[in-house]
Amino acid sequence: MIRVTIWNEFLVEQRKEKVARIYPKGIHGAIADGISQDGFEISFATFNEPEHGLTQEKLDQTDVLIYWGHADHKGFQDHVVDRICNRVHNGMGLIVLHSGHHSKLFRKLMGTSCDLLWREADEKERLWVIDPSHPIVEGIGPFIELEEEEMYGEHFDIPAPEELILVSWFQGGEVFRSGCTYRRGQGKIFYFRPGHETYPTYHNKDVHRVIANAVKWTAPIQREKTFYGRHMPLEEIKK
Ligand code: ZN
Repeated sequence: MIRVTIWNEFLVEQRKEKVARIYPKGIHGAIADGISQDGFEISFATFNEPEHGLTQEKLDQTDVLIYWGHADHKGFQDHVVDRICNRVHNGMGLIVLHSGHHSKLFRKLMGTSCDLLWREADEKERLWVIDPSHPIVEGIGPFIELEEEEMYGEHFDIPAPEELILVSWFQGGEVFRSGCTYRRGQGKIFYFRPGHETYPTYHNKDVHRVIANAVKWTAPIQREKTFYGRHMPLEEIKK
């Protein structure tokens, strides 16, 4: 069974009544409800817990970490960022959602600013599937339509994705790379754009499907720990 930890900053739900109305169980609660039928072992962690709820022990018991943050990226402790990066390099899957693009964690793993254009104008978003062979879009039609979302526009300052799976169109005219995969060390990373807190995006069935598929895709594979360092010859080296 894949052990999933949903990390939600869980500050905007407590600060804005509108967000609390849309997500009475928190964004993490809505995501958990949406992916629970896939049989994952789900637990939670939030910003205000000691070590942001992400101790070494917790990360060691996590196969895939889902990450949503927005209000206090600056306050996220650097040593916890390092600890998560290390776990990713050692095989833990990571799904970064929406405004997590600007977290210390994502920026460190990408090595770029991860800056973008944005606008809150209650506009329509259409996420086009541009890699229909990819397991992350299993069960998804030609596109996902969200009646109202925040706009994110190009240029998105990320390294070229290893796989580009979804591209968003916005009513105001911009486009955005909305579903991107990366590998760092032995870990797999998926960035998924939608999910602004003032819209009911994490109640959408297609959004649930993509996140559940991404959990399965980013989950670590089982194999011996990779060896690095001085290596003895496997065959006799004849002089
Ligand atoms: Zn947002």
